[in-house]
Amino acid sequence: MSGIQTPSWSLATCRDGAGAASLAVLLEDGTLLAAPELKRWDTMLDLLDDWATAEPVLRRLELEGVPSVNDVGLVAPLRYPRKLICAGVNYRRHIKEMGADVPAEGWHPFFFLKPPTTTVIGPADPLTVHDRERTRYDWEAELAVVIGRGGRAIPVESALDHVAAYAVANDVTARALHKRTAVPAAPFVYDWVASKAIDGSFPMGPGLTPAFLVPDPQDLRLRLWVNGELQQDESTGDMICSVAELIAAASQVMTLEPGDVIATGTPSGVGAPRGRYLRGGDVVRVSIDGLGSIENTVQEP
Ligand code: MG
Repeated sequence: MSGIQTPSWSLATCRDGAGAASLAVLLEDGTLLAAPELKRWDTMLDLLDDWATAEPVLRRLELEGVPSVNDVGLVAPLRYPRKLICAGVNYRRHIKEMGADVPAEGWHPFFFLKPPTTTVIGPADPLTVHDRERTRYDWEAELAVVIGRGGRAIPVESALDHVAAYAVANDVTARALHKRTAVPAAPFVYDWVASKAIDGSFPMGPGLTPAFLVPDPQDLRLRLWVNGELQQDESTGDMICSVAELIAAASQVMTLEPGDVIATGTPSGVGAPRGRYLRGGDVVRVSIDGLGSIENTVQEP
């Protein structure tokens, strides 16, 4: 069961017909509200850079009577994360479905990066699959963690204090390009860039739900459907390393900054074990209870 209490809301970025972007409050029913308090920040990154000021403002946000925004489209809430850090396998059943065993002990999280400026797309943007037979795009529903307070070597105990917000994401992966066939030596077997860094391979949204509205990030139900057919359905409680542990581990490697996003790994139910990959016309919907849903239609150029 999710610990989320309703009603919840998130911070969205919307764009009007003239291309101007602005911040708004997104309610669970899809209503966008032009909260005047948000006008002091031009972009979500500005708001996150100012998180110490923004958080108390958001906690006091009064939504009663705030006018709704119309004639705008929802775009990626955070179009340019400062860094986009992704956890490698982090759910037990997903390790098994990929043909490996979970080590009994001594597990340490590991990460890869997606380019922060070219992979993020919005919650309803088309998802472009290139060269389908050769690349084999697969889905990975994930909880995304947005950093509001930076740091290095952050202790696990205080790691969640660094989180500004949470969002729904899909770490789209070109599965066939991950393992190389002809390599000179073992260190060169995996190509994380070819499989993970593809343009538009990180649909995210619909908004950023402030962490203070999420009582327990390890108690969120995460689901993914392709064409209405349920593929993934687990709780973030099934993570091997918790959100706090991932933040602590990532911050041992690199300094975390406001606006960084950490994708926390995907549960079981990806397409690879069944040989089901994305193709033009597929509709991929990812939802996390309390954080909303994203839905991207696959197109092939
Ligand atoms: Mg992933």
